[in-house]
Amino acid sequence: MPARLIPPVLCLAAALTAVCRLPGGAAPVRVLLTAFVSAEGVSISAAALEISTDGKAWRPLQSGSARLIEPGWTPSSPALFRSADGTLTLTRGPLTRSYRGIIEVSAGPSPSIVNVVELEDYLRSVVPSEMPSSWPVEALKAQAVAARSYALGSGPRHRSQRADLCDATHCQVYRGTASETPATDRAVLETRGMVLMKRGRIVAAQFCADCGGISAPASGSRADALEDGTHFCEAGPYHRWSARITQPDLLKALGEERPGTVRRIRIEARDESGRITSITIEHDFGRVTLTGPEMRAKLGPAGIRSALCRFEADPDTGDILVSGLGYGHGAGLCQWGARGRALPPHGHDFRAILAHYFPEAGLATLDASGRPGSTEPLSGSQRAP
Ligand SMILES: [Zn+2]
Ligand SMILES: [Zn+2]
Repeated sequence: MPARLIPPVLCLAAALTAVCRLPGGAAPVRVLLTAFVSAEGVSISAAALEISTDGKAWRPLQSGSARLIEPGWTPSSPALFRSADGTLTLTRGPLTRSYRGIIEVSAGPSPSIVNVVELEDYLRSVVPSEMPSSWPVEALKAQAVAARSYALGSGPRHRSQRADLCDATHCQVYRGTASETPATDRAVLETRGMVLMKRGRIVAAQFCADCGGISAPASGSRADALEDGTHFCEAGPYHRWSARITQPDLLKALGEERPGTVRRIRIEARDESGRITSITIEHDFGRVTLTGPEMRAKLGPAGIRSALCRFEADPDTGDILVSGLGYGHGAGLCQWGARGRALPPHGHDFRAILAHYFPEAGLATLDASGRPGSTEPLSGSQRAP
């Protein structure tokens, strides 16, 4: 069976049981709130705020607000906070965010803050944080299924901080209730509990802004295009991009501060989709060979949006001209492609969208205990109502 993200032991006991066992969903996810870095200096407020150290006995905090920890104090046991209306607000300086579920402050010398939140509530904030809520609902539904699958299929990525996921791009962006919108709430609700499955496991579904018209090999290097060659992600703002990088800027991006010149750029290898997987840059002080992801990380700020690109020298200025397609790693759901597929005249529904980007996956719905039910093929309609 697919591994559940949260072992039952982490569902903190009877008081949390209602959160742990909502019908038609999963156990809650534990989200590390990196926005608040550590618990020091953070205040919490809510209507009828309650605190517990064991998840069983709760006592009211009459004032309705409190510091999470007192300055200089090291908590010896976790502190849990909940409220009557189910939402809690954290504040540090100018930053204020509200969260559903329970806020847990870990014990120890540098206590972190974890939001224990029901999976479907977590997604109500993730989907609009990862895709504009103004986009077609079938694209939003495909995003909701991908984000739900990623949350459960990627395995605990922050185990040492007693969390499954963090709230940043390292995992999925999650900013609490302020992000929620009616359109994305609908997309989450209409796909409630649905996850992508492959060989009996929940898929750690990736997504990227724009695949550039062909997905990365991890997704089978499939063309994201109509028969006439038009890309479904054609409308993306970085679908076709170019960048002009001066030689000093390129050296700086490589960590070389001395003035010098770039002598040669050699593409060593591309994968079957055409993405650069190895590139060597020779300059006055040596040479460096980068993988595709390293190149994107180092040269991203200089305007390199994807590894599906080529390099040329401007014979007049010596600048490096780079032109490419798409934005991001190119694997999994192409968000601009999902939008293009959902819009008229194509009108694909979310199943058809997912079927293209996850060709080997099926769809299952989580039962009340959070286990996926039977997997069905992803045969969607190409004309949504
Ligand atoms: Zn993370
Ligand atoms: Zn695409």
